[in-house]
Amino acid sequence: MQVGYSAEDEVFRLTLREWFESHFPRFLQQWAGRPDPNDLTWRRAWEDYVCQSGWSGLGWPEKWGGKAWPLTRQAIFHEEQARIGAPLGVNIIGHGILAPTLIHFASDAQKARYLPGILSNHDVWCQGYSEPGSGSDLASLSTRAEKRGDCYVLNGHKIWTSFAHIADYCFVLARTDANAQRHKGISFFLVDMKSAGIRVSPIQQITGENDFNEVFFEDVEVPLDALVGQENEGWRLAMAAASFERGTYFIPRLVRFAQEVQSLHQLAASTPTAQGSSAAHDPHMRRELAKLAVDSHILRLKGYRALTNALRAGPPGAEGSSTKLHWSEAHQKLMNISMELLSERALQGSTGKDAQAALWVRDYLWTRAETILAGTSEVQRNILAEQMLGLPKS
Ligand SMILES: Cc1cc2nc3c(=O)[nH]c(=O)nc-3n(C[C@H](O)[C@H](O)[C@H](O)COP(=O)(O)OP(=O)(O)OC[C@H]3O[C@@H](n4cnc5c(N)ncnc54)[C@H](O)[C@@H]3O)c2cc1C
Repeated sequence: MQVGYSAEDEVFRLTLREWFESHFPRFLQQWAGRPDPNDLTWRRAWEDYVCQSGWSGLGWPEKWGGKAWPLTRQAIFHEEQARIGAPLGVNIIGHGILAPTLIHFASDAQKARYLPGILSNHDVWCQGYSEPGSGSDLASLSTRAEKRGDCYVLNGHKIWTSFAHIADYCFVLARTDANAQRHKGISFFLVDMKSAGIRVSPIQQITGENDFNEVFFEDVEVPLDALVGQENEGWRLAMAAASFERGTYFIPRLVRFAQEVQSLHQLAASTPTAQGSSAAHDPHMRRELAKLAVDSHILRLKGYRALTNALRAGPPGAEGSSTKLHWSEAHQKLMNISMELLSERALQGSTGKDAQAALWVRDYLWTRAETILAGTSEVQRNILAEQMLGLPKS
């Protein structure tokens, strides 16, 4: 059994590595502000640079301006980008979730209208699914879309909508048939965020940042051709979109996890103990660091397995839930250990007095969200129990 990429893919990797290693420092030099991995302007600027350099639409068909790369090469691209420490983009929802959904389900007119804006990164997209009363149980959503003349009229309230405050467009799930079975009365719409009647209200996170928002729709008129697929078939599209989300979404995060295990090692090595030694020699800490190194290795292997399955059988299925669950919980463990090491320094970090500690504190706080976003840990366990282990529904 071969674990890893083919020799040709490794040659391909070197070409990409060369590009990132020469262009990322060049980009940094041109950047006037402080390169802050959590600053959306900075993240957007690097994403624009990459897309405008032609590294966009990696898996799309050539007909729509894409490169038609197989998943392995897309994975290598994301690995190499994460390896140089480049920030994650702000249009990940547009590139990673919406574009493949449009390619599979939209009309040619819709593809021609919306794909170029994603390819160039001109148009940032957000995802309007969750509502105050509908998160894990998404099919209970109550935002309505009523057909009136030559448009649909949307009314409802979405929440936790990442990037809505900077997005140009939102893909929205709304109920078009109140009398149908829950999953069968939902449709999938492409909505211009400049439409009259949309109000975006930012939510401040525990990290102090604002990545997500509430979005209110009040008599928002959207044209009939904003409907993707057939009316009342939105659930099928939403499920397909979720499987694309699990496709290459975790690759940069798994690379970053391995880098963070290294950084944690360095933090332990530079943290003195009461006995005058370094925390890296403490037996408890050595055991915790070893467990994280094992997690990192297993996650990498899971990544390869998901990739192989996807190459053979299409978008990843329930095994994507296993990677998401494992990564998000291991990441929280990693950050908990960083707090244990920093001890009182973490307090200095949270008041901004210790710059290195501040970065760890921010990431520690952010990892609280990771067992919730893209499906909570409990929901991932349900999926694994029912779909992989074949256990009965409770
Ligand atoms: C950082 C972040 C970004 C997000 N971005 C977006 C976005 O861009 N667009 C969007 O639409 N949404 C987004 N979300 C929302 C996210 O999808 C929901 O938070 C998630 O689906 C959970 O829904 P909920 O918050 O309503 O919790 P609930 O579904 O109310 O769950 C509450 C608790 O009950 C548990 N629970 C629920 N159902 C079950 C069950 N059947 N079995 C066992 N336990 C269960 C859950 O695990 C959880 O612990 C984001 C969330 C976060 C944290």
